[in-house]
Amino acid sequence: MHKIAVLPGDGIGVEIVPEAVKVLNKIGEIYGYEFEYTEGLIGGAAIDATGKPLPEETLSLCKSSDAILLGAVGGPKWDSLPVAMRPEVGALLPLRKELKLYANVRPCVLFDALADASTLKREVIEGVDILTIRELTGGIYFGGKSREKTETGETATDMMTYTTEEVERIARLAFQVARTRKGRVTSVDKANVLESSRLWRETVIRLHETEYSDVALEHLYVDNAAMQLILRPSSLDVVVTTNMFGDILTDQASVLTGSIGMLPSASLGGEVALYEPAHGSAPDIAGQGKANPLATILSAAMMLKYSFEYEEAAKKIEDAVEEYLNRGYRTPDIMQEGMQLVDTQTAGDLICEIIGG
Ligand code: NAD
Repeated sequence: MHKIAVLPGDGIGVEIVPEAVKVLNKIGEIYGYEFEYTEGLIGGAAIDATGKPLPEETLSLCKSSDAILLGAVGGPKWDSLPVAMRPEVGALLPLRKELKLYANVRPCVLFDALADASTLKREVIEGVDILTIRELTGGIYFGGKSREKTETGETATDMMTYTTEEVERIARLAFQVARTRKGRVTSVDKANVLESSRLWRETVIRLHETEYSDVALEHLYVDNAAMQLILRPSSLDVVVTTNMFGDILTDQASVLTGSIGMLPSASLGGEVALYEPAHGSAPDIAGQGKANPLATILSAAMMLKYSFEYEEAAKKIEDAVEEYLNRGYRTPDIMQEGMQLVDTQTAGDLICEIIGG
């Protein structure tokens, strides 16, 4: 029996998470696995119900579970709250910190059927298979923040700090994962300008020389990385970078796959891992059945692989997603001429049907 904390959150979170649960149940039926789900409140939904974006009960539910499935948090309704109360700052960041989830692993894989769904040319994106490893509990998102009145207005400060230990553990993960893939790591920083990036680069170089010289290593400044990502994406293998740079670059990378609705993620490092799509709560399409649930369904596949070591079942989901796309089903974000438009729930049903054979 695997205990899964289910946190749908806000916006499309409440539409996509049930589809991933549906798929997990189908997998359970086929392989005889038992999943026990307990739902928890997080983000705006938790603020509305309890006054807190991350209630104690949700945190203890997560700590006592074997894995966590999260939708997304946030929305215009809570944007004007004081910063510490807002869903992302008040829920996601403390959840990651409390659970020590320092590594966010984001695969960016292009399914062949979507090679023409991207805004980029087929010949540029064909064969794209990038694994971004984003540092998740350090850097500027977690540094000190302040706001001071001055004579002419205000000064706002966000501190960007990294320690040797934080860089070592994320770089180590990147090198180890690269050994199981094409053996190439691209480390992204801004060492020409930022002191924290100079420490980042020195640390990555030292680790590479002393422990991982068998892995090919390149360094890119983040501005150049943004360019290489759309210039030669298929030459990238494992990309390791800081919290903020990873946040931005993976949204950009999602375009290679056709839509951000295709990008799953796993946050690892603590005793319990968290699985969530790379996108947000998409208030612009929430409640309309337009959300693509594939990123969340593929996140559930990552859960099976990383938390429960059910490789075959995870592959079954990935293959079903590929087959669904090959059969021409599309939510609006990846719709192409001649394809069949489906809504969020139908997408989940079709994946289950394909899994069931
Ligand atoms: P977003 O990722 O929610 O949406 C960006 C664009 O992508 C929108 O046009 C949206 O419709 C589209 N999109 C996102 N997911 C989709 C899906 N599954 N299917 C189809 N289209 C999809 O980013 P945003 O608009 O910048 O932020 C909206 C809210 O989400 C904000 O409150 C933000 O703070 C929050 N947010 C939360 C997380 C999280 O929970 N991890 C991450 C990012 C943003």
